[in-house]
Formats: sequence, structure tokens, C-alpha cells
Amino acid sequence: MERFRMEIESLSKNEEFARTVAAVFMSRLDPTLEEIEDVRTAVSEAVTNAEIHGYRNETGVIEIEMEMEERDLTVRIRDRGVGIENVARAMEPMYTTDTSGERSGMGFSFMEAFMDEVLVESEPGRGTLVTMKKRIGRWRP
Ligand code: ATP
Ligand code: MG
Repeated sequence: MERFRMEIESLSKNEEFARTVAAVFMSRLDPTLEEIEDVRTAVSEAVTNAEIHGYRNETGVIEIEMEMEERDLTVRIRDRGVGIENVARAMEPMYTTDTSGERSGMGFSFMEAFMDEVLVESEPGRGTLVTMKKRIGRWRP
């Protein structure tokens, strides 16, 4: 098992950094370009959520943890922000609390589409933990 952990500040410029680091870390699993793109997108959605919803654009710390065990990649993204009252509802396609009209409410749907498993644990006032898993290298014998 290989593990990696980092903390970033919830600034939009760090979102690109987080997904690039994720891509580099998983490269040891010899992924396809599509697999890399899937993980980059999922990490990007989760980190963006932590920034804009969790911390409401104030600066907080986002913890990112990645683990590889054989071909299984696990990514955990945690914020200590406002939390989510109703996780099941938040994960519904097109559900958003955004009122600016900029968001489409598809972040969780993308995470679920691109990863094999997405688990969201959250408590109002305490923050949110998103755990995502993906098996890499399915094409290999
Ligand atoms: P999009 O991702 O398409 O730009 P969105 O962020 O609103 O829009 P989702 O990513 O699916 O859509 O999230 C749905 C809703 O869940 C958000 O509008 C927000 O209310 C809530 N949410 C998601 N992540 C968090 C988080 N880390 N902390 C607090 N609330 C969150
Ligand atoms: Mg989102």
C-alpha cells in the first residue's frame, strides 16, 4: 500500500494543483489517459465543492489523501466547513444551492460517473468527507 497526504488552502488556484498531483500519484498504476482524466475531473469537482460550498469562498484547509493498493485507488477529500444537511438530496443530479446561476448541480453526478464508488459523509457545522474509489487498469489481463 502506498499513501500520500496533503493539505491545501481553499483557493481556486490550488484546485489545478490538487488534480495535477492526483494524476502524478496515480501514474504509478500505469493508467490510461481516460482513467487519468476521470480522476482529475472527480478530484476537481470535490475540491471545488470544498472551496465554494464548504468554506463559502473563505479560506480554509482542504485535506487530500490518496492511497493505492494493487490496482485500487482511493481518494479522500475533506473540508471542515459548513457541512451538508441532506447528503442524499445534495447528490441528486441538478440539485444545487447556488443562486447565481453559474452552477449546474452536476458535480456529484460527475464524481459518480467517473469513479467506481463515491461516499459522502457530512455533518452540518463540521464539514464534509468525500471518499472515492476507482480500480485502475481494467484493460490489463
Ligand atoms: P456544479 O458542481 O455543477 O458546479 P454544484 O456544486 O452546486 O454545481 P454538486 O457538486 O453536485 O453541484 O453539489 C450539490 C450541492 O451539494 C451543492 O450545491 C452544495 O449545496 C452541496 N455541497 C457539495 N459539496 C459540499 C461541501 N463540501 N460542503 C458543503 N456543501 C456541499
Ligand atoms: Mg460542485
